[in-house]
Amino acid sequence: VERTLVLVKPDGVSRGLTGTILSRVEAKGYTIAELKRVHATRELLEEHYAEHVGKPFYEPLVEFMLSGPIVAAVFEGERVIEGFRSVAGTTDPTTAAPGTIRGDFGRDWGLKVQQNLVHGSDSTESAEREIGIWFA
Ligand code: ATP
Repeated sequence: VERTLVLVKPDGVSRGLTGTILSRVEAKGYTIAELKRVHATRELLEEHYAEHVGKPFYEPLVEFMLSGPIVAAVFEGERVIEGFRSVAGTTDPTTAAPGTIRGDFGRDWGLKVQQNLVHGSDSTESAEREIGIWFA
């Protein structure tokens, strides 16, 4: 069965939205296979965000992800990767569709990084890679 890595980013955890976010994904019909709270290290984030090294938002993104605890989950189900991304909404929370996690709970806070509450893997390859990083 397909799996995806879901992260409730530090903004989601600090705003008390962890339960709301996880329950939206569960309510769509996906199953929690793994769940934990973690303080990421710089090393872990460098591995996770390797494809973004050198981009202007890379350092602000890493600093943001280090700013507080994260809740990491593995969800599973048919087409869960696409399904989660649909529930999460598009990257920029200001314009993400209402009804999505980012669209309902996020906005631009004027920083150099999109504080967009959640992460979800974008392919089966990246899901298996990312699950290996966060649930080693
Ligand atoms: P995620 O992979 O976290 O689900 P995504 O696939 O929508 O989000 P990516 O392009 O993989 O976005 O970027 C990873 C993260 O980097 C985004 O979730 C966001 O926090 C941040 N980010 C991406 N693009 C920008 C940008 N142009 N400006 C600021 N931050 C950005």
